[in-house]
Amino acid sequence: MKAIRFETAGGPEVLQLVDVQVGEPAAGEARVRHSAIGVNYIDTYHRSGLYPLPLPSGLGVEAAGVVEAVGEGVTHVSVGDRVIYFTNAPGAYATHRLIAARWLVRLPDAVSDDVAAAVWLKACTVEFLVERCARVQAGDAVLVQAAAGGVGVLLCQWLKAIGATVIGTVGSDDKVATAKAAGADHVLAYADVPAKVRELTGGEGVSCVIDGVGKSTFMGSLDSLRRRGLHISYGNASGPIGPVDFGILAMKGSLFTTRPTLFDYYAADSDFAAGSARVLAMLAAGYIAPTIGQSFALADAVDAHRALEGRATVGSSLLRP
Ligand code: NDP
Repeated sequence: MKAIRFETAGGPEVLQLVDVQVGEPAAGEARVRHSAIGVNYIDTYHRSGLYPLPLPSGLGVEAAGVVEAVGEGVTHVSVGDRVIYFTNAPGAYATHRLIAARWLVRLPDAVSDDVAAAVWLKACTVEFLVERCARVQAGDAVLVQAAAGGVGVLLCQWLKAIGATVIGTVGSDDKVATAKAAGADHVLAYADVPAKVRELTGGEGVSCVIDGVGKSTFMGSLDSLRRRGLHISYGNASGPIGPVDFGILAMKGSLFTTRPTLFDYYAADSDFAAGSARVLAMLAAGYIAPTIGQSFALADAVDAHRALEGRATVGSSLLRP
C-alpha cells in the first residue's frame, strides 16, 4: 500500500510517495481501496501551510473506490460497495485508507469511479453555493470567476441548468472553449471585468458573483455587482483577500458578502443527505458532468500540484493509484 506524505509545509516538492500499512477499521470506520482520487485546490493549501495541518500528514480529501472492510456499527455501506467520498480528514492521496464511514456514499452503476472522483467534492460545493447560499433563481445574471476550473465548469453547468445567465472569466484564450461548452453565455478575460459585465447587463451589474480566485479578483467582483448584490468568496486560488473595511460594501451599493465552506453546509446529517441526493440527481439527469482535463499517476502528485498552481489545468484533475 502506498500513500503521499509530507513532513514539512512547502512547495510541491515536499510531497513523497511512501509505503504504508493500513490496518483494520475501528468502530464507525471503513477501509477503502481507491480507484480514482480527486485533486482539489484545497490540497495545495494543506501542503503549503496556508491551511495548517499537524505534520507529518497525508494529503487529499476526495476519492472513489471499493469498500474492503467495515468496522463495528457501520451499516449504510458493505464490503464490495463502490463508494465516493469527500472528507475533512486529508489522506486520499493513497492506494488505500481508513475513513469515518459517515462520509461514504454508495455510487449508482451509471456513475463511473473517474466521474465520481472528478465531480463529487466540487459538485457538492456547487450545490450549496448555488441553491443554499446564493439561492439563484431562473433569469438571474451570475458572474463565475475562473469558469474553466474544476468548480468553475460545474458552476456554469448547474447555473445554466436552472436558467441563470452565466458570465464567466478565464485566464487564457485556450480556456474559453471549456467555459463556453460548460454553458457560460459570455466568457471574459480578467481585464476590465466590471465594465464588460455592465455592458452585458444593460448597465445594472450581476445579482451574484461566485469567486474562488480571491485576492486578484476581489475588487472586480464587488464592482460587477448590481445594487444590493451578493458577493460569495469561496476560495483563494490567487491568495487570501486579507483584511477588508466593511464600509466598502456600503460604498459599492449596499452589497452582501459571505465566505462559506462546504463543511459547514454539509455538517448536519440532513444537509449531507439532501445535498448528496441533489448532486446525484443532477448527474443522473445529465445536467452536470465533469471535464476531466488531466490525470496523473499517484506517484506524480508533485506534477499535479505544479499544473494546478501554474494555472495549466482545465476542469477537474485526477490521480490514479
Ligand atoms: P481550479 O481548477 O478552479 O483552479 C484554480 C483556478 O483559479 C486556476 O485554474 C486559474 O484559472 C484561477 N486562478 C486565477 N488566479 C490564479 C493564481 N494566481 N494562481 C492559481 N490559479 C489562479 O481549482 P478548484 O476548482 O479545485 O477550486 C477553486 C477554488 O475553490 C479554490 O480556491 C478552492 O480552494 C475553492 N474551493 C472552496 C470550497 C469551499 O467550500 N469554500 C470547496 C471547493 C473549492 P484561470 O487561469 O482561468 O484564471
